[in-house]
Amino acid sequence: MFHQFLFTLLTFNILVNAHGAQKPLSSTPLHPQHAEHALSLLEKYPLIDTHIDLSATFRTIERNPWSAVHKLDLAYPGHIDLPRARAGGLAGGFFTANAPCPKAVGQDPGPDFLNPTDSIQHVLESMDLIRKWIEVFPDQMKRCRTASDVRQAFEEKKLAVMIGIEGTHQLSNSLAVMRMYAELGVGYVTLTHVCHSSFASSNGGGAGTSGSTIPPIHPGNGLTSLGVDLVRELNRLGVMVDLSHVSDDTARQAINVSRAPVIWSHSGARAVNNHPRNVPDDILDMIGDKSGQNRGIVLSVLYSIFIDKDNATLARVVDHIEHIASRCGKAHVGLGSDFNGIGSSVLGMEDVSKWPNMIQEFIHRGWTDDEIAGLMGGNLLRVMEEVEYVKNQLSSESASTTIYEKRKDLPAHEWGGPNMAYLADDVKEVVIAQKRLRDEL
Ligand SMILES: [Zn+2]
Repeated sequence: MFHQFLFTLLTFNILVNAHGAQKPLSSTPLHPQHAEHALSLLEKYPLIDTHIDLSATFRTIERNPWSAVHKLDLAYPGHIDLPRARAGGLAGGFFTANAPCPKAVGQDPGPDFLNPTDSIQHVLESMDLIRKWIEVFPDQMKRCRTASDVRQAFEEKKLAVMIGIEGTHQLSNSLAVMRMYAELGVGYVTLTHVCHSSFASSNGGGAGTSGSTIPPIHPGNGLTSLGVDLVRELNRLGVMVDLSHVSDDTARQAINVSRAPVIWSHSGARAVNNHPRNVPDDILDMIGDKSGQNRGIVLSVLYSIFIDKDNATLARVVDHIEHIASRCGKAHVGLGSDFNGIGSSVLGMEDVSKWPNMIQEFIHRGWTDDEIAGLMGGNLLRVMEEVEYVKNQLSSESASTTIYEKRKDLPAHEWGGPNMAYLADDVKEVVIAQKRLRDEL
């Protein structure tokens, strides 16, 4: 019934939303002869997108994002709203809860990343906004953390909503902050966005940049020792390590450190389009089913500039995916659009309603139903299960006690108040002794 409705929409190229406004779906099916087959696959298997920046759009255009959530079931600006997600057969997604790199919003974290920024407030507010979506649309959306949650949501015909955090500048140099994000159900953390952090080096080059790499600041331009501890802690917490945006050396080192499969939530293949946001072959060769390889997954992005600035089409995206599959295997590819985080998507995949076109292209290229089901979401669910398995295996491991060695806020003597009035006498004595020791040093 659902897909009868979906097919009717696509046939007539028209979408009627709950308030009667009409919004055209711009193109006819890419391969009309495969349209019904594609819809049957969308009905049978979940299609999951690992990177959607929808909460950022609310923050960008709303004075009060929380009071605007009802607009999600109308024609909302950007690449995704609920009517178009339904039309495209989207079963679930990782929605980012993000703060931009500090310099993009006029904040300078300083050379050691010690200057305070608003990042954690932005992340928590975005997570709360995502919580609000589900409160307003409980019949359409379901908060999910695990692969089995996603399967349950698919059974209930609800959109599976998961959360990713893009960039460790949002951790304020603290593994404790990461642990609390994990408690709140964050499913993956991208080790950097377009800026370096105290944990890892970025490749720069994202949407809205010049597309070139950024000058290194960390020795070796990879993970820092704090970053190594973070990757191990993410494994222990069952949070996926995302390597989109990171420098090549960060990626290589993270794969070597990680005890669980890694992901690229929205990247293509550098051999198909030489761009720093895409994954080079030598790193792709670290991923796969062979012994010594990481069993991770590359989820392909739709941003026109990353795909092919001269030929940004859906078919070209599939060229990226087929190249990745040729290096890593078809069990290691998936879909990560970057919708709402990109100025332009590729022709044929203009918004979330166009996912059936993508499926048609894979049918056209001779992929089997099982292979397409894996690409749509099965491969990602396998990775999520393996990450959960590693978490269970590590359940006897203690939380890391590592703190960033450049922190200057601990011990926090000034917390004692004026004349140390908040401190018990014995605490005061400790503070006095510490201050004396510090002064002598
Ligand atoms: Zn991104």
